Amino acid sequence: MSAPLPPPPTAAAIEDLARALEAIPALTLLRRPAELERLSRDCHDYSPALSDLLLGCRAQLVARPGSVDAVQRLVAACAAHDVPLTVRGAGTGNYGQCVPLRGGVVLDCSRLDAVRSIDAETGVVEVEAGCVMARLEQQLAGCGRSLRLMPSTWRTASIGGFIAGGSGGIGSIRWGFLRDPGHLLGLELVTMEPDARRLRLDAAASRPINHAYGTNGVITALRLATAPAERWHELVVEVADLEAALDLSQALAGAAIELQELAVFERGVCDRLPWPAGCPPVAGARLALLVDPCGSRFLEEWLPAQGGTVILQRPEQPGSARPLRELCWNHTTLHMRAHDPGWTYLQMLLPPDPAPMLREMRARWQGQLLWHLEAVRQQGAARLAGLPLLRWSGAEALEALMQDCRSHGAVIFNPHVLTVEDGGLGVVDADQVEAKHRFDPAGLLNPGKLRGWTGPRPSS
Ligand code: FAD
Repeated sequence: MSAPLPPPPTAAAIEDLARALEAIPALTLLRRPAELERLSRDCHDYSPALSDLLLGCRAQLVARPGSVDAVQRLVAACAAHDVPLTVRGAGTGNYGQCVPLRGGVVLDCSRLDAVRSIDAETGVVEVEAGCVMARLEQQLAGCGRSLRLMPSTWRTASIGGFIAGGSGGIGSIRWGFLRDPGHLLGLELVTMEPDARRLRLDAAASRPINHAYGTNGVITALRLATAPAERWHELVVEVADLEAALDLSQALAGAAIELQELAVFERGVCDRLPWPAGCPPVAGARLALLVDPCGSRFLEEWLPAQGGTVILQRPEQPGSARPLRELCWNHTTLHMRAHDPGWTYLQMLLPPDPAPMLREMRARWQGQLLWHLEAVRQQGAARLAGLPLLRWSGAEALEALMQDCRSHGAVIFNPHVLTVEDGGLGVVDADQVEAKHRFDPAGLLNPGKLRGWTGPRPSS
């Protein structure tokens, strides 16, 4: 964690602030204990370690602004009263990103949801931060466009929360990750100061705000690149085992088809996933694909020669109750935990040739580890990310497992920690810290989540 946290504001300080906030038009205040509890939670319970750490962390007040003006006045009042503020999108983050560690106010973005513009020529969209991605997708589809990247929670998660707290997901096989240059083209940002400013940042200036957990500015709107819309086809392919699945995913990476998603599940995971109706009983490892219509036709002929049996093939249905994309990314973990909450997970980038690592680790961690892989594009190269399921048996066992992965050349992104840095590459990003000094000089935004922040500068 960053510098030790001061205690939460006193009840009297919160009452003072609430009186000031009541005068702001288009601002709803929520104070009932059940609301405070619900709006202080996210999906960090996938991690037993985080569940322990975040026990009892709760907002003292929730504010739901209905306009950017209201955000600006709310933020200014919190800064003037020296009350911490934690921004919340839809609360689907997995690392307790929007759980307030120091009480104070939670800013709920759900009413800040306008799609401001979609450029007919470039497809660039400007959208308010609280817009749920499913709604944004609908509006983009009307213009023949689509989000390049989305999490498997796109039906409920907000676009602001994805940029501030997510990393990639469906589309990462073509488009890499959210922090790759070219995705986020600009931000509208409100600074956490008594005279809160509303700034428009270009792509370069927005970079330190991207994936900073809302610690260095309140995002009110974003400008994003989009892709031409495609009618993806869902394919489920069965192969003998995990090694055959690895070979096939490598062959697919070299095929002249458009893939929007490629997930690999070893047999033990397949056995517990809710496959769409029409899929036969599990008999091996499986791949879940989203592929362009022409590629789908080609794969029908090509896959059998590669040892793959197509067991489901259909155009994706927009309103489908169980789309294949909701078996992928952290939805795999969700389904495994629905089956047995003793499962948790890990995240990593696998070494370029992952077969020896997977072989050795399967032998060593038998019964405790099951592999779920996702094909991604990392700095232009086709790679596999691992989101293996693991049986939780304490922090020491987790550390030993992560060490084992590292010794095979994997890069770990630990989902059992609280700070931006520890969940990433483990290093402080000086630009993120500098942006916090400029846009949140007193350190009131989402306290405790940026390890590189050691406190305000003496002059501020
Ligand atoms: P929240 O959880 O509300 O917030 C996330 C972070 O962003 C917090 O730190 C918050 O303070 C900050 N924030 C939110 N809004 C703003 C704002 N306006 N200004 C500044 N900061 C802000 N993630 C992926 O990247 N890829 C996946 O495929 C994926 N799959 C998932 C599957 C499941 C089943 C679950 C439970 C989670 C998954 N996630 C995934 C994590 C999460 O769903 C996504 O990152 C999602 O985009 C977060 O959006 P949200 O609106 O819920 O954000």
